[in-house]
Amino acid sequence: MPSNPDRVEEPLARLIAAHPVLFRGKEPAISSFLPEGWYALVDRLCSDMEATLGPQGCAAYEVRQVKEKFGALRFYCRLQGEGDLYVDLKFEVSRSRFVKPAVVEGADRIRALIEQAMADSEHICQRCGCAGSLRNLGGWHVTLCEPHSEEHANHGDGTATVRDHEAIRVSCGAGNPPVR
Ligand SMILES: [Zn+2]
Repeated sequence: MPSNPDRVEEPLARLIAAHPVLFRGKEPAISSFLPEGWYALVDRLCSDMEATLGPQGCAAYEVRQVKEKFGALRFYCRLQGEGDLYVDLKFEVSRSRFVKPAVVEGADRIRALIEQAMADSEHICQRCGCAGSLRNLGGWHVTLCEPHSEEHANHGDGTATVRDHEAIRVSCGAGNPPVR
C-alpha cells in the first residue's frame, strides 16, 4: 500500500503535530502510515481520546501503530507497563484474549472509541474522505468511493495523474477539497 511514501507520511506528520499530548511529538514506535482520506476520522479519534483521558491519562498511553490493513483502519496503543492493546476484532480475534483488564480510568471508553473509528473507516474513502465502501479489488482490500474505485481499476497500480485527481475531486465532492 505505501507505494508513495510522501503521500502517506504527510497526514501522519500532521496528526502528530496536531496532538502533542497524545503523541508527544514522536512517531509511533511501529512503522505507521495514515491514508489521507482517513485523516479527519483519526484526528477526531485522537481528540476524543485526549478529552476522555486528560493529560495524565494520555501520558499513560502510547500509540504504537497507525495503519491501514485489509482496507480498514488499525490503531494500536498500549498502556504503560502493559502489553500492546490490539483492538483488531474483525481479523485477529484471538489477539483480544491477550488484552489485559483496563487499569486506567476511561480505558473502556478508549477501546470503544478506537473500535468505532475502525468500523467507520470501512465507510470512508481512504483516498479522499468521501463516503466509500470496503471493496476487494483484485485481491486488495481497500475502502474507496466510487470514482476512486474506478481510478484504481483503470490504473491498476493505484497511480493517477493530477488531471484524474481533479476529475475525481469534482465528481465526488462537487469541487470541494477532501475533508481534513
Ligand atoms: Zn475517494
